Amino acid sequence: MKKAFATRLLSQSGLRSLLGWASPWSGVLALNYHRIGDGSASKFDRGLWSADAETFTDQLRFCKSHLEMISPDDLPRVLASGRGRYGMITFDDGYRDNYEVAFPILKSEGVPATFFVTTGFIDTPRLPWWDEIAWMVRTSPRDAIELPDWLPGSVLFDSLDRENAVRTLLRAYKAMPADANQAYLDAIARATGSGRCGMEVSESLWMNWNMLREMHGAGMTIGGHTITHPVLARTTRERQREEIMGCGNRLAEELGAPMRYFSYPVGGLEAFNAVTRDTLREAGVRYAFSYYGGFRRPTAWDDYDVRRVPVETYLTADWFRSIISLPGFFA
Ligand SMILES: [Zn+2]
Repeated sequence: MKKAFATRLLSQSGLRSLLGWASPWSGVLALNYHRIGDGSASKFDRGLWSADAETFTDQLRFCKSHLEMISPDDLPRVLASGRGRYGMITFDDGYRDNYEVAFPILKSEGVPATFFVTTGFIDTPRLPWWDEIAWMVRTSPRDAIELPDWLPGSVLFDSLDRENAVRTLLRAYKAMPADANQAYLDAIARATGSGRCGMEVSESLWMNWNMLREMHGAGMTIGGHTITHPVLARTTRERQREEIMGCGNRLAEELGAPMRYFSYPVGGLEAFNAVTRDTLREAGVRYAFSYYGGFRRPTAWDDYDVRRVPVETYLTADWFRSIISLPGFFA
């Protein structure tokens, strides 16, 4: 929250424009979103909503006035020039609001964006673990649950909309080895009394191939994000291959264009490794995007670690503007 305070101070004092003038930067600043709209009453993971439609529009307009907005196809050109300030808008996972809410706004603002989709979610709609955990907690008839094999004490459903309980259970999932994941979800299903979520709940959650073809035809870029969204570095070499090659094959079949761009599920530095990079290179991927903040100067470029800044609802307008104007301090 120190950054939120600093950005407020900067905008009130007019220091931001002074600092922006005094600390010029050049490079590529990529922003990443998940969902656009109002998630405040959703039974799913509310942390996935990045901005509402109005905020998203404001953010695009601010970006346009400060950066040249580009698509990944422009990267060889802008990197070769070695100068300039470039912005990229990206989305992960493939949620349907990307098509219904974000796409019309992007078209009317004339901003290109890249959508990295999890092809297994498009092919066979299902709830990802983060949304299923939130759904099980929010549909439970109970006031608290105990998961003695997984967590000490009780998880109380006493905060507003059970948000704290959802956060606690999501945190535990992220910390455990991948082979324990299914047993943990089954344990939550039993403890909450909600059961595992049925397919019908997830049917309208994701975009379908017709929507993706329409976006692709309108100049948007569609990239890969694996088939089932595992943390690649925590899986075997064979599994990484299946997830990357299989994702690329589905994109090529449905869109008639090869997978040239990719984003790592979860996307932190520990989410991908040398095997991932080699496999992407072999799959013909030109650039791959991470997700741990920061931006890339042309002098410190890495084709398989294009850094991205998370956009989340806690970013105030001042904070967002500071990220765009002064990424060296705030991105
Ligand atoms: Zn993702």
